[in-house]
Amino acid sequence: MAVFKLDNVEDLYEIGSVLGSGHFGQVREVRERATDVLWAGKFLKLKKGAGSRLGLERKSVEKEVEILQSLQHQNIMALKDVFESRAEVVLIVELIKGGELFDFIAEKENLTETEAIEFMKQILEGVRYMHQKTVAHFDLKPENIMLSDKHAPNPDIKIIDFGMAHRFIQGEEYKSLGGTPQYIGECLSGLSPFQGETDEETLRNIVAMKYEFEPHCFSQTSNMAKDFIQKLLVKDQSERMTAEECLIHPWIKPLNRTQIAKRNRSSINMKNFKKFNARRKWKMSFNMVSACNRFCRLQLLCKARGPEQQELRDCESDQEDTGTKPASLLRRRLSSSS
Ligand code: AMP
Repeated sequence: MAVFKLDNVEDLYEIGSVLGSGHFGQVREVRERATDVLWAGKFLKLKKGAGSRLGLERKSVEKEVEILQSLQHQNIMALKDVFESRAEVVLIVELIKGGELFDFIAEKENLTETEAIEFMKQILEGVRYMHQKTVAHFDLKPENIMLSDKHAPNPDIKIIDFGMAHRFIQGEEYKSLGGTPQYIGECLSGLSPFQGETDEETLRNIVAMKYEFEPHCFSQTSNMAKDFIQKLLVKDQSERMTAEECLIHPWIKPLNRTQIAKRNRSSINMKNFKKFNARRKWKMSFNMVSACNRFCRLQLLCKARGPEQQELRDCESDQEDTGTKPASLLRRRLSSSS
């Protein structure tokens, strides 16, 4: 079992404001007391016992940490340190100040394919690097693609959240529930080529790999971009382009002046992109409210049961933690266990 630092994270870092929330805790800005340097702290709640419904298995946190420790790349969020208490593990990671790439793009009035490709190239470089290290992310989606600094002339892409990532061992078969393939087409046209009338239909289309580039949405999209998408939307993995192959596809790396000119003439459908991004944000908020409601129902359920049940005891200890700030929680846990 990996052992993380047992120091009180608050002795070394001042805990600041909330930057975002994940499934199992919050991400906060933190200031290293010794150097005044700002970092991000990812506070992950641990399961209290085998019957506990809330929190993460320690094994999963170890897996995320082991993967992050093995990845050092300009386009991948860097891990600095890991602290643990009985209730939480805190990952000290590089602070990424530029927000989500999609929010940055949605603020623009126009974007050529050439400009979009600069971002795509960096994403592919990060992915190629992790694949070379036999790591698959399994949750690459707009929320997990951030920018180092949106005011910089050429901001760096940073891939975050390795909570679902997996390191492959040769010959191993692994099934993940992650992945969101429709995003690839949506980036360029603002519409998924799989789009159905309902979510169910969209999902059926994805499973059947049934898609079309609707002319009114993809009219500004170059044929090279469509070819690039087509070569990724392939069910059989051995037939699909690898990140390495993507990087030498003519859309990313044009072979001649004509291809360069075509890329410059083609642009992203910003009207649809803005609509898509707004819808995505709305869905994220909706999911957050649904998760809160589910959590409240779970709390009520736990209160309704007798205190004698082990499961309830686990659940109550989880409830107690969720209403508490991670930093003060860590302090309390450490002082009560010492
Ligand atoms: P995660 O649980 O890793 O998906 O993080 C949840 C949210 O916290 C993300 O969607 C980001 O908004 C934010 N976040 C995560 N990591 C960082 C970071 N290193 N710097 C700034 N914000 C972050």
